[in-house]
Amino acid sequence: MKNKISIKSKFEIDALREGGKILAEVLELLKSKAKPGISGDYLDELAEKEIKKAGGEPSFKNYVSHKGSCPFPAALCFSINDEIVHGIPYGKILKEGDIVGIDLGVKYKNLFTDAAITVAVDKINPELEKLMEATKKSLEMGIAQVRPGNRINDIGTAIQKYAEENGFSVVRDLGGHGVGRAVHEEPFIPNFKQRDKGAKLISGMVIAIEPMLNIGSHYIKLDKDNWTIKTVDGKYSAHFEHTVTVTDDGFEILTKLF
Ligand code: MG
Repeated sequence: MKNKISIKSKFEIDALREGGKILAEVLELLKSKAKPGISGDYLDELAEKEIKKAGGEPSFKNYVSHKGSCPFPAALCFSINDEIVHGIPYGKILKEGDIVGIDLGVKYKNLFTDAAITVAVDKINPELEKLMEATKKSLEMGIAQVRPGNRINDIGTAIQKYAEENGFSVVRDLGGHGVGRAVHEEPFIPNFKQRDKGAKLISGMVIAIEPMLNIGSHYIKLDKDNWTIKTVDGKYSAHFEHTVTVTDDGFEILTKLF
C-alpha cells in the first residue's frame, strides 16, 4: 500500500496551487452567500459557474465512490447540522442557527484539490461556535505535523488530542486521503491515533486533511439517499479540510487564499 503513494513534481504542485486558489476563492464566495433563505441549489450552481469561469471543473460532480454506485449529483457536498459529510445540496434551504459544511473539489489542469469549511448561518448557539472553532483548530494541529520524516499517524494523533481535550469526538470511519492526480488516492489518513505509525511523509506528497468533529458520539450512519453521512445520535458535526503538500522542510497549504 505504501508504494502506491504518488510523489508530485514541482510542475504538478504549481498547477495544484493554482487550482487550490480557485477552490479557496469559491469557498469564500459561498461562505459570504450562506444566509437564511438561501438554497443549496443556488450555491451549487454558483460554485459550478465560478469554477468553470476560472478554467476548472467541479470534481465531485458525477463522482462514483465505488464501482456500480450512483454518481454524486452535485458540485458541492452540502451537509447541514447532524449531517457530517457528503450531503446533497438539492432542495435544502438554510435557516438561522444552522451550521453547514461545504466541501468542494476542483479539477484544474487535470489535477485535483479538495477543501471544506463549515459556515455559521447567522447567529448560532455558543456550543456550535465552539465545535466549529475546535474543528478548524484541530485541522491546524494536524497540518502542523506535516513535515518530511513524520508519519501519517502523527496527523491523526494531533487532531484527536485537540478534539477530545475540547470535549468533542472525532469521526473514525471517514478520514483524509492522498489527492492530486485523482479525487482520492493513497494513503488513507485517519483522524485518530492508530497502532500503526503509517507511511513516512516525503517531500512532494499531496494530502487532504479533513477532521470531522461531533458534539456527541463518533458513530455515523448512511442516509437513505445513499450519500449523506449523519451522526447516529442526531447531534451536530463540523468539518474543515485543506489540501496540503509536504515540502522539504514542512508543509504548504495549497487551498488557501494568497
Ligand atoms: Mg476530502
